[in-house]
Amino acid sequence: MERTLSIIKPDATKRSITGKINAMIEEAGLSIIAQKRLILSVVQAEEFYGVHKERPFFRDLVNFITSGPVVVQVLEAENAIALYRKTMGATNPKEADKGTIRYEHAESIEANSVHGSDSSDNAKIEIDFFFTDEEIVG
Ligand code: ATP
Ligand code: MG
Repeated sequence: MERTLSIIKPDATKRSITGKINAMIEEAGLSIIAQKRLILSVVQAEEFYGVHKERPFFRDLVNFITSGPVVVQVLEAENAIALYRKTMGATNPKEADKGTIRYEHAESIEANSVHGSDSSDNAKIEIDFFFTDEEIVG
């Protein structure tokens, strides 16, 4: 079994579609084994998105992700990282396949409703960023 970090972003929490998104996650065969709702501080967001700090959209991304509540979750399945990225769809919703979370729900390339870890190394770093071992209940 593999684990990945999922974030339901502020555009989705504001529209009260966390349940719809989690239904798609569970229907894809991913188990939600940890979950919390919080507002990221600017310092936390800058650290979490540190890999993007040289990108032109970095400041906008930090402003967006701190603009409202997020739901952070650990998902578990065989091949959870790839399975969840397939379930999310492409970063830009205009390029996302039909039936994916971003095709159905994202508003724009920035307000794209969900985050998912992109590698097993990053999944571990990102899960440890938000959760202790005791908070993950498989
Ligand atoms: P995430 O890391 O959120 O799962 P991703 O891996 O599909 O998304 P990344 O390249 O890691 O995409 O970009 C991180 C986030 O930065 C994207 O989800 C999006 O919100 C934002 N982003 C990426 N590219 C752009 C862009 N060209 N303009 C504005 N925002 C962008
Ligand atoms: Mg990414």
